[in-house]
Amino acid sequence: MLKDSFGREVSSVRISLTDRCNFDCIYCHNEGLGDTRGPLDPQTDEISTEDVIRFLEVCEEFGINSVKFTGGEPMLRQDLEEIIRRTPQSFEISLTTNGTFLPERAQALADAGLDRVNISLDALDRDSFAKLTKSGAFDKVLSGIDSALEAGLTPVKLNMVIFRQTAGFIPSMVDFISQRDGLHLQLIEYMPELTGNSDWAIKISDVHDYFRSRADRVEQRYMHSRKRYWFGKGMVEIVDPVGNSDFCSNCHRVRVTHDGYLKGCLNRNDDLKSMGEMTKQEIRDALLATVSERVPFYGAYLIKNEDGHWIFNEKYQNSTGDRKPYLYS
Ligand code: SAM
Repeated sequence: MLKDSFGREVSSVRISLTDRCNFDCIYCHNEGLGDTRGPLDPQTDEISTEDVIRFLEVCEEFGINSVKFTGGEPMLRQDLEEIIRRTPQSFEISLTTNGTFLPERAQALADAGLDRVNISLDALDRDSFAKLTKSGAFDKVLSGIDSALEAGLTPVKLNMVIFRQTAGFIPSMVDFISQRDGLHLQLIEYMPELTGNSDWAIKISDVHDYFRSRADRVEQRYMHSRKRYWFGKGMVEIVDPVGNSDFCSNCHRVRVTHDGYLKGCLNRNDDLKSMGEMTKQEIRDALLATVSERVPFYGAYLIKNEDGHWIFNEKYQNSTGDRKPYLYS
């Protein structure tokens, strides 16, 4: 197992298969690369099927056993089923998607070996959904959720980003997941680090308070210190990374960008590492270097000054990337 210099084991990888997307969500960080929306046709810089598989084979050598495919919209990749089918057997495989293409492909993905799926859904109201995603695919997404459940891609987690424009939809989303077996709700705190608009953020502690006072049962999850709230069979999990050094000290993930660069932290683009021509030895070297240079974002890369504001830690300011994260105070 790989460990970074902060003692954090690396057990999972998150691979962006494309930065193309058929939605244009107003809040999207695009896996830390910001708004790179471009043409929907396949692009030549996208990591190839062969390179994804070779990378995963190297990860397996180091005991990494979980992979999440993301994007952009990963289902725009027509080779997604092939990638999943060729992913080494030891991996748990999950996918984050906007759900539009699940009605036609959920069963094929399950047959290829996909274990479970996260589907983004920020509102159950058609007009609000259209405003948030700049897409008219609401009905497709709802039937995509059905298809994922039918194909056994469970638990199907609905990802809802929580900020001013969505917080009011929380009760209806809780009702929605409580009525169906196999559906979970994952509330993701709005992250302004790479997207700006910090005034959209709401106090996530208020959301915790709301659930604490209503849930039948509360559970603390070790990984990322996430809290889970149970309502009968329904489960709501809150992912609250912003300004949360506990969250960062429990991060066990490295990332790969759609164009094949390794990335040690969602919030940073000054640590991107090329894997060269993607020979196994080059991948091994880049992976080891990335892991050895991983730094918890909140608590080490950013530290608090005497006034309690996050500031850049001088120690890590020698990196070569061109984008600095947004400072959230
Ligand atoms: N297109 C896919 C989807 O819609 O799920 C995968 C890519 S999307 C970037 C992956 C996840 O990031 C989604 O669940 C989305 O809700 C979340 N996300 C995007 N921007 C975010 C932000 N600024 N703050 C918090 N979560 C965000």
